[in-house]
Amino acid sequence: GNTEEAGRLLGSKNVRVNCLDEHGMTPLMHAVYKAKIDMCRLLLRHGADVNCNEHEHGYTALMFAGLSGSKEITWMMLEAGAETDVVNSVGRTAAQMAAFVGQHDCVTIINNFFPRERLDYYTKPQGLDKEPKLPAKLAGPLHKIITTTNLHPVKIVLLVKENPLLAEVEALLKCCRVLDLICEKCMKQREMNEVLAIKMHYISCIFQKCINFLKEREDKLDGLIKRNVSLLKGRDTDGFPVYQEKFIRECIRKFPYCEATLLQQLVRSIAPVEIGSDPTAFSVLTQAITGQVGFVDAEFCTTCGEKGADKRCSVCKMVIYCDQNCQKIHWFTHKKVCKILKDVHEKQELEAAKEKRRQEKKRERDEAQAASLSPTNEEQSDHPPEATEEVDSHHAVKRTEESVLNKQPSAPQLHLDNHSESETNLADIAVQKVQESEE
Ligand SMILES: [Zn+2]
Ligand SMILES: [Zn+2]
Repeated sequence: GNTEEAGRLLGSKNVRVNCLDEHGMTPLMHAVYKAKIDMCRLLLRHGADVNCNEHEHGYTALMFAGLSGSKEITWMMLEAGAETDVVNSVGRTAAQMAAFVGQHDCVTIINNFFPRERLDYYTKPQGLDKEPKLPAKLAGPLHKIITTTNLHPVKIVLLVKENPLLAEVEALLKCCRVLDLICEKCMKQREMNEVLAIKMHYISCIFQKCINFLKEREDKLDGLIKRNVSLLKGRDTDGFPVYQEKFIRECIRKFPYCEATLLQQLVRSIAPVEIGSDPTAFSVLTQAITGQVGFVDAEFCTTCGEKGADKRCSVCKMVIYCDQNCQKIHWFTHKKVCKILKDVHEKQELEAAKEKRRQEKKRERDEAQAASLSPTNEEQSDHPPEATEEVDSHHAVKRTEESVLNKQPSAPQLHLDNHSESETNLADIAVQKVQESEE
């Protein structure tokens, strides 16, 4: 644990930085497992081998990092060149081990790590090529998209759109080719990496879609996001983005290696779900690729899928956005269902309020009953009210997730009724309110 002392010892010649203990663990493995960041850094500086694989059960430093749950150390190991595809003696990768012990942030980091050098490889002519497969100027923007953990198709289209180098047919064709090659490599190498393979394939599918729109549509990439048949267009009844759902399902189905276990898992989770029900293809895919569990669509921006969005449409309170920009992009389709969703929301709130009153009355009754019991029964009588409380809060969260998150009473929206006839007005109100809540 003493970094200074260790530094001094490592400085002397007769201490080997990669020495093994009786279980085949290196000092780096010990430091990683105990999440000693400074010690890890010191050992790496002194040449500790991040891929040493002499452990009795085939554990690597990266596996210990995943088990420790330290995001920083997991990053450090990856940056130091830790192989992600190595498996331990029972055939598990570092990401799988981290998932097994519930360290989902580490899983996300490992699964989405893609060293820039691996992409830069394609920026140099290989073999008989006269020119590189990927122009050097595209490596940066493409790397940014490859390492993203937000796989929302709209987000990826927005990332393409914001970069003029990328938002061009020729450039995207080259990127697709490179993504397909990486995908193939992931599947054909000895230690298969299905997660990365499916991610590469999925991004390539979205690029392909972008290419079609850039070629054929006048409105270019905007058309892919905002037109009548587009990624964001919601259906009339509840605003569910049917086209987006079908698109993601199709991408998954088109994955060329049907024998992949992960593909089969994805298909099994998605196929029985009716379009419009949970889980969405986006959430299933995100869970598979990031390793996150307990994915709730409600916590993600309706437009771009970014996590932690917290600006709510002030009228219906049923959709959330990162910011006003995301709200504006979505408004063309949301305006058609905002009123419907508002009614749904108010009904939910009303029911929740009723339910709460019912529970309160029940609790009062129980308490009265408990009070009338003899003192010897006191211990027993403590239990029912507690249980009801739990049931109650569970119920409330489930039914009116929105209102609980919002911590707002149920009927504050009356003044909005005057405006709700006109769509434009509604837009003004909604945008305004988001602005207010930003302050
Ligand atoms: Zn957003
Ligand atoms: Zn709304």
